Amino acid sequence: MSIERVAIIGLGLLGGSIGLAIAERAPEIVTTGYDRDPDVRKAAAARGLTNILLDTASEAVATADLVILCVPVGAMEAAARELAPHLPAEAIISDVGSSKKSVIEALGAALPGRTVIPAHPVAGTEQSGPNAGFPTLFAGRWCILTPPMGTDQAALEALSDFWTRLGARVEMMDPDHHDLVLAVTSHIPHLIAFTIVGTASDLEEVTRSEVIKYSAGGFRDFTRIAASDPVMWRDVFLSNKGAVLEMLGRFTEDLTALQRAIRSGDGETLHELFSRTRAIRREVIDQGQDDSSPDFGREH
Ligand code: NAP
Repeated sequence: MSIERVAIIGLGLLGGSIGLAIAERAPEIVTTGYDRDPDVRKAAAARGLTNILLDTASEAVATADLVILCVPVGAMEAAARELAPHLPAEAIISDVGSSKKSVIEALGAALPGRTVIPAHPVAGTEQSGPNAGFPTLFAGRWCILTPPMGTDQAALEALSDFWTRLGARVEMMDPDHHDLVLAVTSHIPHLIAFTIVGTASDLEEVTRSEVIKYSAGGFRDFTRIAASDPVMWRDVFLSNKGAVLEMLGRFTEDLTALQRAIRSGDGETLHELFSRTRAIRREVIDQGQDDSSPDFGREH
């Protein structure tokens, strides 16, 4: 089965980047796009995020082989219900949502009997909206597919090939495992960043202007993550509640152990942990998931 027409629903960072990546790496694929916000549609047309931009979801999906839902996780079910009656019989329906179990439930309820193969490209930035996307977002990044039992093999291969063509490396995963892995690699780090930036801005003993002025000490790196889209992240935590709470329990225990080590002057424990974490940073770089420039390549 070959994918010749792709409909992108939601034209923000992820939807826009998919459209631009297709134009650059697979230009023979025709893309149609729809976003519920007319201003986003206008901006998407101006940037050429898809070949054809439409004012309704029904028109956008009418001739698609592959429909990709690029909306916040909490909006997946409504978006799927809106286009369900207009889908071609053989179309594959996929998504890019950051949590998978809840999306599978939502799409299963909205699209019974359809070929639904959820996906999560593990690639992003703190930017959102139609001007945020870029064609190389997926290059060298992982895209995790979570096919339900009994998924049509030809459809799965077609979707896998599609993501490979956009530059991604594809892996299959069980949705529960996906949600646990992403809770620890993405969702908890975001929660920590939201918390530390929130705490710093609530302090009374240290002024807000001091927090900003001396932010190069480490704080500003948290502010990048904490600037991420509030709607998207609200939905991630509400939809991946179980896995996030499980990992947060573990994190809290480790934090308490560290607190104890600081209080009791246990430098050995601190040094051992910081040495292990430094080695993990090296592995991230060695595996091509970040570059090795000091201080993220900032000029000094
Ligand atoms: P975004 O830039 O905010 O774009 C989402 C767009 O979808 C918005 O323009 C939104 O319009 C629109 N939308 C919402 N409901 C819709 C509907 N029912 N029909 C059509 N359009 C609708 O968000 P994003 O960062 O691209 O994230 C999209 C998805 O990708 C999320 O599920 C997120 O979990 C996942 N993801 C994000 C990242 C990341 O780093 N950002 C990484 C991997 C995966 P309104 O503004 O009017 O709501």
